[in-house]
Amino acid sequence: MKVSSFINGVYVDSEEQRNITSPVTGKLITPYSVATDAQVDEAVQAAKAALKGEWGSMSIQQRVEILYKVADGISARFDDFLEAECLDTGKPYSLARHIDIPRGAANFRVFADTIKNVADEAFHMPTPDGTGALNYTIRKPKGVIGVIGPWNLPLLLMTWKIGPALACGNTVVVKPSEETQLTMTMLGEVMNAAGVPKGVFNTVLGPGSRVGDKLISHPDLDAITFTGSTATGERVAEAASVGLRDASLELGGKNPAIVFADCDMDKAIEGTMRSVFANCGQVCLGTERVYVERPIFDEFVARLKTGAEALKLGKAEDPETTMGPLISASHRDKVLDYYQQAVDAGATVITGGGVPEMAEELKGGNWVEPTIWTGMAEDATPITEEIFGPCCHIAPFDTEDEAIEMANNSPYGLASSVWTENASRAHRVGGQMEVGISWINSWFLRDLRTPFGGAKQSGIGREGGHYSLEFYTELTNVCIKL
Ligand code: NDP
Repeated sequence: MKVSSFINGVYVDSEEQRNITSPVTGKLITPYSVATDAQVDEAVQAAKAALKGEWGSMSIQQRVEILYKVADGISARFDDFLEAECLDTGKPYSLARHIDIPRGAANFRVFADTIKNVADEAFHMPTPDGTGALNYTIRKPKGVIGVIGPWNLPLLLMTWKIGPALACGNTVVVKPSEETQLTMTMLGEVMNAAGVPKGVFNTVLGPGSRVGDKLISHPDLDAITFTGSTATGERVAEAASVGLRDASLELGGKNPAIVFADCDMDKAIEGTMRSVFANCGQVCLGTERVYVERPIFDEFVARLKTGAEALKLGKAEDPETTMGPLISASHRDKVLDYYQQAVDAGATVITGGGVPEMAEELKGGNWVEPTIWTGMAEDATPITEEIFGPCCHIAPFDTEDEAIEMANNSPYGLASSVWTENASRAHRVGGQMEVGISWINSWFLRDLRTPFGGAKQSGIGREGGHYSLEFYTELTNVCIKL
């Protein structure tokens, strides 16, 4: 597969080639072409021109039909997308088959349905002469949207933004993470086959600090939608402020789980296993801090340890594999540094804490052990900073108020999980979580119509359902004096 930017309906090469390597083996997958500054500009200009072409004059129903075809196109090539996503990320097929690829297709269907069913508002008003006036709102596309996302759930997270952006009639220039560019590259073919007009969907490939920064600084972008770290989010917000462009920022987290003694222990263990270790801990919504009520603390720690030690690290295509590697060698170094800092901070390492012994052919991969700690002070760095690896710290608590205070004691506020069978407590505690998404007895249970986003340093704005429409459209109020 040739990996290069997709601009105005065609793939374009450049002289500069960089390598994509496998997280599983460390070996070369393929070289790719890095977008030049001129190509970034061409992509934005193509997107700008497409707004005025066929795309701009289509009815909502015509756009909706095309988006259904995009969804069908992903589904029709399900196995190709699955293979590409797992090659790029090293995540198990068993995970991507159920989450990443189906959600990639669903993101187009759901937002096609959303835009199809949205109604305009009308306001009747009195006037001094008694004739009255009628106001009604019209939703228009915002224009050219810059879409930038991370490497952990590439197809899922990019289409979560591309779907509503296109549904609302915008055009996009997409910069996937350099670590994971395969499925976004394939999406160009799907767009062409679905009849998406040239210039509506464009990708520019390359490192974020160069190609991404060039994109967000482009004066002809009308808005930027970003998922990634809080540090890069600040840079995006800074770039968006020039020319007063809107920015939607979905950022990092340091998500807590609170496990009460009245929980269903089997469900709490199963949910926490997923929230800590799914995708090798590289999920923005993942749990890294677990607070467990003291009477069940020892049992919970022991059972989570058993679960972590039963995880099977291995190749993505092996049906036995339940955990893949981290995305890159540099990310592994970062996670291992936190593993060391935890030891330095006096943690008791319940399990893991290092690099696993892997088969010869996998030794070049970015493997780390699933890791559980207890015994750290709440201000220790591995408890306050986002690690984005397969690890968590478990601390005991004695009262509900204490648990809430510890869970909320973070500069982040993305998601939380509360485990209890007491319905009053579920509502009481769930509502007090300072987060965008507060789950009770669940994790990663997503209805795409609900608002998604973070409080505090976990982001600005909400996307999902009609909340996405707020971001991806500009409202014009038409006022008619009767
Ligand atoms: P980064 O912020 O490093 O990168 C995110 C994207 O931004 C990548 O495409 C990256 O490109 C690009 N980028 C980097 N620097 C710039 C720049 N100066 N200008 C424009 N683009 C730039 O995040 P990670 O990829 O490391 O992803 C992990 C982070 O994402 C975690 O903090 C995680 O919590 C967060 N996240 C948040 C989610 C949410 O919904 N709230 C969901 C998933 C992840 P490149 O990689 O090529 O350098």
